[in-house]
Amino acid sequence: MLRIAVVGSGPSGCYTAQSLVQQDPDALVDVLDRLPCPYGLVRYGVAPDHEKIKSLQNNLRTVLEHERVRFLGGVQIGPGGVPTTRLRDLYHAVVYCVGAATDRHLGVPGEDLPGSWSATEFVSWYSAHPDSVDDGFVLGARSAVVIGIGNVAVDVTRMLARGTAELSPTDMPQAALTALGASRVTEVSMVGRRGPSQARFTTKELRELGTLPDTAVSVDPAELALDPAYADPSGLPAPQRRNIEALRAWAEAPPQDARHRIRLRFFLRPVELLAEAGRVSAVRFERTAPDGRGAVTGTGRYEDIEAQLVLRSVGYRGVPLEGLPFDTTTGTVPHSEGRVLREGRVAPGEYVAGWIKRGPTGVIGTNRPCAKETVTSLLEDAAVLVRREVAQDPLTALRAEGVEPVEWPGWCAIERAEAELGASLGRGVVKLPDWESLLGAAHHNAL
Ligand SMILES: Cc1cc2nc3c(=O)[nH]c(=O)nc-3n(C[C@H](O)[C@H](O)[C@H](O)COP(=O)(O)OP(=O)(O)OC[C@H]3O[C@@H](n4cnc5c(N)ncnc54)[C@H](O)[C@@H]3O)c2cc1C
Repeated sequence: MLRIAVVGSGPSGCYTAQSLVQQDPDALVDVLDRLPCPYGLVRYGVAPDHEKIKSLQNNLRTVLEHERVRFLGGVQIGPGGVPTTRLRDLYHAVVYCVGAATDRHLGVPGEDLPGSWSATEFVSWYSAHPDSVDDGFVLGARSAVVIGIGNVAVDVTRMLARGTAELSPTDMPQAALTALGASRVTEVSMVGRRGPSQARFTTKELRELGTLPDTAVSVDPAELALDPAYADPSGLPAPQRRNIEALRAWAEAPPQDARHRIRLRFFLRPVELLAEAGRVSAVRFERTAPDGRGAVTGTGRYEDIEAQLVLRSVGYRGVPLEGLPFDTTTGTVPHSEGRVLREGRVAPGEYVAGWIKRGPTGVIGTNRPCAKETVTSLLEDAAVLVRREVAQDPLTALRAEGVEPVEWPGWCAIERAEAELGASLGRGVVKLPDWESLLGAAHHNAL
């Protein structure tokens, strides 16, 4: 009987566990996560006002409640926690589903000025990630620049434009709700270095910006026209064509008066963040132009956009995990159909799935076939894997070594505490935002 550890309880970890118990009638699966809460970025990334996508947690929940699956939260694998080598001793196989936890950098002067944040830091704050800092993101800001034109950039732009009435029904932590409700940010520029036909946002998310109450979206038709595909988008794939259509509608619409203005800007590459009184005050951009080969090139013309808040959203990147090989170019673990490769050779018993396997692309559902491929490889190796003797019960061994996991009843206790907190505030469920309250709820209220 195979005993398998899945590290990470995000979509790829849950889909891996699901595939394992579906395809192997005897497999026992432990899903370990450094956080006391499951679901990875579905809980700590997907925007709180996207309730429908958030509700995917209910599907992942059924996996973690399966009789042959155990959730072991609050267990860090790697430095400061359980070493990867120890995990290998305890289980026949380990599947790493640790995601891509860090941001790419812009690599421009001023990037680290106060007032300049990665989108991840902002997202973690409004999502109540226990590692996040409450550093007054919107405090004192009137205008914001969001650098990037993907869906995460759209998410953070939307959150800056939403008011208390719309955010209050979400599970956003109370401090973030209060801060965003009191925000005086009225201008948000979302800026991409490429053209509209190369933007990575999806049309549904883009169009949603136009539905926000008391918010005007503006697009400069002359800037759109710099894109050769703008005049005739018929040769573009359907998603990009639809993006162009949505942008054209805004570009052609008469100007609107509204409390919030979202400006969608293209062909501008950030070259420096400018400071005033020790804080960011503007972003200097260089105008770019298509180079005819699908990329852009600088034109030597510059434009400064005022901003007291800058959110950088230019992509995610995996972080190396001690004991696992890592490709620094791609930010992923080298693998062959999910089998970890050490110096080009398969490392028996070690597997990867999700963002750490294929990089930070695709939607939640993309992780399902990705996990399935990995599980297929693992089960092909099963006959060899089971030959190795492993702990009778890895959890007993871990406990003997001082590890105190948050098990499923502990997570259910966190859920109850979040419902109670929400009720006390006259809201629905409200997330607990720090380690102390999460672990307090998990350990003291578990049934
Ligand atoms: C801001 C944001 C918004 C998004 N919104 C959407 C959306 O609306 N719709 C959509 O379809 N997709 C969305 N996505 C994409 C989606 O979230 C990803 O496809 C998906 O979460 C990737 O799954 P994963 O399991 O590989 O990684 P993750 O979801 O990141 O899960 C990784 C898990 O591993 C754990 N972990 C990491 N390191 C360790 C360690 N050393 N020890 C133990 N545990 C560890 C983490 O705590 C985490 O729980 C969004 C992504 C981001 C960043």
